[in-house]
Amino acid sequence: TPGVRPLIAGNWKMNGTLREAAALAEGVRAGLDAVGGADLLICPPFVHLHVAAASMGWKAVGIGGQDCAAEPNGAHTGDVSAAMLADAGCGYVILGHSERRADRGETDALVRAKAEAAIEAGLIPVVCVGETEAQRDSGEAEAVVAAQMAGSLPEGFAVAKGVVAYEPVWAIGTGRTPTEADIAAMHARMRAEIAARFPGQGETLRLLYGGSVKPSNAAGILALPNVDGALVGGASLKAADFLGIAAAV
Ligand code: PEP
Repeated sequence: TPGVRPLIAGNWKMNGTLREAAALAEGVRAGLDAVGGADLLICPPFVHLHVAAASMGWKAVGIGGQDCAAEPNGAHTGDVSAAMLADAGCGYVILGHSERRADRGETDALVRAKAEAAIEAGLIPVVCVGETEAQRDSGEAEAVVAAQMAGSLPEGFAVAKGVVAYEPVWAIGTGRTPTEADIAAMHARMRAEIAARFPGQGETLRLLYGGSVKPSNAAGILALPNVDGALVGGASLKAADFLGIAAAV
């Protein structure tokens, strides 16, 4: 999108020891000079956030959480608040990832409440949406994604420069991706939804594609209209692959 700096975000999911996290963060930092065309973001597990943030000097690469609580604090055993993430060096938080929607029963309403909490804490929410394979096969993909956006994005989303990641569930970790034409069509629909919901503000929000992005397919995907970066899972666990994707911008 003209005037929008792409964002390449790595979702480390539940992987790695502290030592491995430190090494991966350091590997990303060490290769930064070669990838000047995009903003980079890494999203380690909660317990590795601090070491990753420290490795980045707290600014060269963005740091994000993979989830946050909707509540600001209190009796919520096992949860982490948005303010805690900000305090740990995060500028972003992934919300509504399909693994949380599927495995933890997260609804659009909960994702929206979490996004509101994130914005309140000064974080940029990266809200994930995407259809299942059955939904795509039955021609519902765009309607499903539009409904997820309507339900998951809070009112303050555009002012907070929120990010939407289109991640078809069937493309995550499978090595399969939609065709470039299908990605472009979905992102055009997402841009239209954003523009209608947030008049005058949505045109420059970042829309990421996620699902089996790797160095070999990144250039084609990242060149598509309305694709303003990528959310990368598996390939973000190797610094060279993650940087290779960023270099494809
Ligand atoms: C993800 O889960 O956000 C993701 C895009 O995973 P992968 O790149 O491994 O498909």
